[in-house]
Amino acid sequence: MIDSTHSSQDQIHHICYIGLGSNLGDRLAYLRFAIKALSEIGQVRVSRLYASPPMGPQDQPDYLNAVVELVTTLSPLALLDQLQAIEQDAGRVRKRHWGERTLDLDLLLYDQDQIQHPRLNVPHVGLMERDFVVLPLLDLLPQATVGEVRLSDVACLQSATAKAVSDLPVQDAIQSAWFQDESFMLAKRQA
Ligand code: AMP
Repeated sequence: MIDSTHSSQDQIHHICYIGLGSNLGDRLAYLRFAIKALSEIGQVRVSRLYASPPMGPQDQPDYLNAVVELVTTLSPLALLDQLQAIEQDAGRVRKRHWGERTLDLDLLLYDQDQIQHPRLNVPHVGLMERDFVVLPLLDLLPQATVGEVRLSDVACLQSATAKAVSDLPVQDAIQSAWFQDESFMLAKRQA
């Protein structure tokens, strides 16, 4: 277990993977907002965009999901603080447990670290069971292993329900149209 409170002053660059999900409101705009906010923290690469049925109650919209690779000098807890701030800035709404939400950001991997902290478990506890996380992660890291397990071998891929929305990496969309279009609704900017 690492000291997850270590300072970022050492300027060591860490490679992190962050799961993004939205199934409420303008889902694409929330993901776009999150990707832009993450790109202001460090260098990003972004998976393809996926659509997946909700976990838990089924009377809610499908999710849009993606995974972002972020290179950052932030410590794990400082990064979690940033993720939670981005969720709040996006006007995070969560109606019920396992229910619909505007924006959910999960820290999936932080280098090869294993972190057990009251606020943070890494690798993320749901990582290996969730095809909507594994598939976009494999876009970025086709040879990924978590512990001893190859991600491309995990059982949830046998019955995967998440589907890539297009073969275009979200990143290409960012470079073209996404960030040219400032019309999406941001709670922060409206405030
Ligand atoms: P949720 O909104 O359901 O994703 O859960 C958020 C809560 O999970 C927060 O209280 C976090 O402190 C905690 N948490 C634990 N591990 C993680 C992680 N790897 N990524 C994001 N949140 C985490």
